[in-house]
Amino acid sequence: MKGIDQRVAVFEAELRQAGLRMTQQRRLILRVLAESDDHPDAKGIFTRAFAHDPTLSLSTVYRTMKVLETQGAIERHAFEDGVSRYEHADQQHHDHLIDVETGKVVEFSSPEIEALQAKIAAELGYEIVRHRLELYGRKMPAGRRKSIKKNA
Ligand SMILES: [Zn+2]
Repeated sequence: MKGIDQRVAVFEAELRQAGLRMTQQRRLILRVLAESDDHPDAKGIFTRAFAHDPTLSLSTVYRTMKVLETQGAIERHAFEDGVSRYEHADQQHHDHLIDVETGKVVEFSSPEIEALQAKIAAELGYEIVRHRLELYGRKMPAGRRKSIKKNA
């Protein structure tokens, strides 16, 4: 994973390329975003940034996120609750499991699933360009968890 400063620099370059002026507030939003690894939504990013600058508006955050998404610097996820959540686009490919009770987003990656998806697509005559996989789950009681072997 890239360092925070490097991420901020990438975001800044993307905003400039999109013709947006680099303001103090935008820089603050970029820093908050670069530091967030928990798939926050725009309101969450706003709340974190607002703590440092109470003159910040939510619409500035939305506009900044929109531009970064268009530029491909961040990825937007719309999980079942319909809220857009964001993460850096510079990470290794991974999929998401969403806890239906807490909304917590857990990242995972599975070479088996990747291979299976490629196989299915190939059988249908396609090569995969991208994919998204979302699992929705509920934490199992501890007793049941123990009885399931990892590589069963
Ligand atoms: Zn993620």
